[in-house]
Amino acid sequence: MTERPVVLEAVGLEKRYNVPRGLFRASATVRALDGVSFRLEAGRTLAVVGESGCGKSTLARSVTLIEPPSAGRLLYDGREVAGRSRAELKELRRTVQMVFQNPFGSLNPRKTVGAILSEPLVINTGAGRAERRERALAMMAKVGLRSDQIDRYPHMFSGGQRQRIAIARALMLNPRVVVADEPVSALDISIQAQVLNLMMDLQEELDLAYLFISHDLSVVRHIADAVMVMYLGRPVEHGPKEVIFDRPRHPYTRILLAATPRVRADERAERIVPKGELPSPLAPPPGCPFHRRCPHARDVCAVDVPPLREVDGRQVACHFAEEMA
Ligand code: SF4
Repeated sequence: MTERPVVLEAVGLEKRYNVPRGLFRASATVRALDGVSFRLEAGRTLAVVGESGCGKSTLARSVTLIEPPSAGRLLYDGREVAGRSRAELKELRRTVQMVFQNPFGSLNPRKTVGAILSEPLVINTGAGRAERRERALAMMAKVGLRSDQIDRYPHMFSGGQRQRIAIARALMLNPRVVVADEPVSALDISIQAQVLNLMMDLQEELDLAYLFISHDLSVVRHIADAVMVMYLGRPVEHGPKEVIFDRPRHPYTRILLAATPRVRADERAERIVPKGELPSPLAPPPGCPFHRRCPHARDVCAVDVPPLREVDGRQVACHFAEEMA
């Protein structure tokens, strides 16, 4: 098999926030991301999954530099992001673009589709008006919009069409990577499949890589090549999709899968009810961050943090991963 270039790489990524705790108390530090590493190859999709609050949207904002990471390394297309001049960074940022969850809020209501699609070209290239319009029309055709819709405003489109516009805008600068944060979760189920299929077609045509953030494992099963499950800002299981879906070895992954209808054939036999809420990231539990909710927790889990390690073809952070077959 030919080796694919790594187009996005994160090494030990961290994101910390200082949170004020009141007038006479020192601020607290929240570790929204804590040691996240992955490699994403051209033409592939890495899905990042977990409950709301697990750090997956923070990861999306960090790798796109909307909120740059506090520590760790980030490489775009094999090139280190840190230490770049402003001009180099502007050039590098073109390679990684983002599609947001809400197609209703992410498009400027006062601009036509033509203006929205031209904007990245105005900011980043010297393309003239006629060329910008031509490239906007070509991109509209690629995402399944008609050329006569170019002078229409976002409110004149359906939710699915607006997400097509958002995808088109992300592709105007020919990125290598698209970071998609819950790109279909605001859409009707019937429209979700159309947008996912469009994304998969574009991936094949343009050799795009996707970092696909989602809480919906049935969507992930459809689109991902690899899956990273996150819990309280850390990856707890990470590997090829088939390995994670067919033989999950982290109790949290098993609970997520059991809670998703139609994802596992043995779902009924395996059904486990997750205990309690996601702990506050302001006061994460000692030991394994999942131990207060884990049906398999033992004494050691409340004391020792399980390292992420290789077990049975994936990386997993559980002291007893070998027993979770
Ligand atoms: Fe559960 Fe212990 Fe594994 Fe954490 S280390 S997931 S608490 S069994």
